[in-house]
Amino acid sequence: MKDRFGREINYIRISVTDRCNLRCRYCMPAEGIQTAGRDQVLDFDEIVRVASLCGELGMTSVRLTGGEPLVRKDIALLVKRLKELPSVQRLTMTTNGLLFEKTAGSLSEAGLDGVNISLDTLDRDKYTQMTGTDGLFDVLKAAGKAWELGMKVKINTVMIDGFNDGEAADMALMAADRNIDVRFIEMMPLGRGKLYTGPSCEKIMEILIRRLGTPERCFGDSGEDSGPARYFRFPGMKGRIGFISAVSRSFCKECNKMRLTASGRLKPCLQYGDGEDLRDLLRAGAGDMEIKELIKKAVLAKPRCHRFGEADVDGAEKDLMAQIGG
Ligand code: SAM
Ligand code: SF4
Repeated sequence: MKDRFGREINYIRISVTDRCNLRCRYCMPAEGIQTAGRDQVLDFDEIVRVASLCGELGMTSVRLTGGEPLVRKDIALLVKRLKELPSVQRLTMTTNGLLFEKTAGSLSEAGLDGVNISLDTLDRDKYTQMTGTDGLFDVLKAAGKAWELGMKVKINTVMIDGFNDGEAADMALMAADRNIDVRFIEMMPLGRGKLYTGPSCEKIMEILIRRLGTPERCFGDSGEDSGPARYFRFPGMKGRIGFISAVSRSFCKECNKMRLTASGRLKPCLQYGDGEDLRDLLRAGAGDMEIKELIKKAVLAKPRCHRFGEADVDGAEKDLMAQIGG
């Protein structure tokens, strides 16, 4: 399905919970958040139904996120059910990795194709300061395990000025010997991200060129530039380095996604607080056609672009990234 600006919307990012076992400082306050009640969160039947209807409209790539998706009980069962949908061509997950190692086998058997692991530093103390938990080694083990199981592994890194920005080259070198992607995501001024600044992707690229040499441009998994990341390969490295220039070079022209929050709001854009409430419709016994109409309405409401650079944007999202699903 195309939106009003001719963008092919083929990707849905589904948040399965707003709970999280970490407190990354740019995402969650140390005291946590008021999480949604159990009955407010979509159950597996509801998630699978929405994914199936979105799939019929062309959203064939599905990513599970949160909060932390692995804190949701029986998540491998949901993976299996989604993977069985004929429309789902690719099913992936974004996770902080802490609980990954012990569920990896069942996730792989259930058909998870790939995992994006969020990791912002390789320094144990900094990891603990950044997230509130001494979990660096568990995350590194998670990345190794996912790779061993043959999943596509991407490491997602957000840099904060003066905190972990000196580690860009060390993070990139995680892709030296293994065919994994290390992706730098610019700090977005959303939720607690407004309290921090980070280097632009251009600045990170300059640092990497100085340390690792001149890279060649290469393409994403589907052989072309799909989605917002731009990929490069540095000399002698097996994996790719990706840049998601959310702020400095707005990625909106390439935006191919919709977001479903844990409570069932279908969100057209990360920045705005609008969207269509699918949960009420699902629970009122609506038929497939009616739900699809609401999904289409949300897709057609996708704005041309975010306005991250501007203060006081009308209708800006009030929920935190952990609630939206990142
Ligand atoms: N808990 C999972 C995780 O951390 O991978 C999934 C949810 S988390 C909200 C998804 C991604 O959003 C993480 O990679 C995190 O670094 C990123 N994120 C959160 N707040 C951000 C911000 N203000 N700017 C850029 N990325 C952000
Ligand atoms: Fe960190 Fe993800 Fe949890 Fe946010 S949702 S606090 S980024 S682990």
